[in-house]
Amino acid sequence: MNKKISGSCLCGKVSSTVEGPFKKFYQCYCDRCQKKTGSAFASLMFTTPDKIEWHSGKDLIKRFDLPEAIRFSNAFCTDCGSQVPYISGDGAFLIVPAGYISGDPDIRPSANIFWDERPCWFDEGKSADTFKSYPE
Ligand SMILES: [Zn+2]
Ligand SMILES: [Zn+2]
Repeated sequence: MNKKISGSCLCGKVSSTVEGPFKKFYQCYCDRCQKKTGSAFASLMFTTPDKIEWHSGKDLIKRFDLPEAIRFSNAFCTDCGSQVPYISGDGAFLIVPAGYISGDPDIRPSANIFWDERPCWFDEGKSADTFKSYPE
């Protein structure tokens, strides 16, 4: 029996479990992922579409498909706006935003993809000072 990995959106209304193990974990720096996350990159885990079991809130999910994109979509909870899992437009993958998962997904990122599209502030941001919480 493979491990069931649970996840939910920020408000908790959308929830599901994914049967592990995930097959790939990429950090994508493409300009589309920057727009959808509001951040430098999207952390995305991949498995096959049959591995997800929805527990709640599936009717709250809105999906935006960029017309020319094959695998990129933005699926999110309409109540809290958090990204949630979706099946790629070509039907090949279940794509799970890493932050959706609660706890350890038992996989680590293996690639930084679309690296040349990373934001101009990203490299310097890695050496910025660190704080446990908000700076004083
Ligand atoms: Zn939500
Ligand atoms: Zn991307």
